[in-house]
Amino acid sequence: MHRRDALRASAVLADAAMGTENIEFVWNSTPEAFLGDGKLAAIRLKNTQTGELSDLATDGAFVAVGIVPRTELVRDQLRLAADGSIETNERMETSVPGVFAAGDIRSTPLRQVVTACADGAVAATYAIEAVRV
Ligand SMILES: Cc1cc2nc3c(=O)[nH]c(=O)nc-3n(C[C@H](O)[C@H](O)[C@H](O)COP(=O)(O)OP(=O)(O)OC[C@H]3O[C@@H](n4cnc5c(N)ncnc54)[C@H](O)[C@@H]3O)c2cc1C
Repeated sequence: MHRRDALRASAVLADAAMGTENIEFVWNSTPEAFLGDGKLAAIRLKNTQTGELSDLATDGAFVAVGIVPRTELVRDQLRLAADGSIETNERMETSVPGVFAAGDIRSTPLRQVVTACADGAVAATYAIEAVRV
């Protein structure tokens, strides 16, 4: 289900999804409600062009709409980027000496497993160095 009539995702992922037989796209639609009695039975859709409501029968839903960094814990302590992610330098050091951030939570151009793991390795390396000094 997508609110517009085209995807903005990277072409390699979009093409793969569009080429998959058992994936059906519902364009120009937003979810209005999950319907069911204790168990999901349908999703109420709203057509973004016409406003028309319809129910799509389903027993499962996977919600994926962007990301929100969970940085409430450090909001008043560490310097954050405009999107709420934690600013670090290339050593994964935050604005507070001795505090490191790694992975999706930090301000970074790419959020993938491999970059999160690499961040962790860098952070661990410099955290050990900080303790040694
Ligand atoms: C739908 C989707 C598909 C993806 N597909 C891919 C893919 O194909 N390939 C790829 O490389 N990457 C993919 N990613 C990105 C990848 O999942 C992330 O980059 C990676 O998981 C980041 O790892 P992380 O350890 O930084 O954060 P996370 O994996 O998000 O781990 C953070 C952990 O901290 C926990 N946490 C949060 N707040 C607190 C708190 N206050 N106290 C204690 N624990 C807390 C969370 O519950 C979570 O377990 C995908 C992401 C999504 C959402």
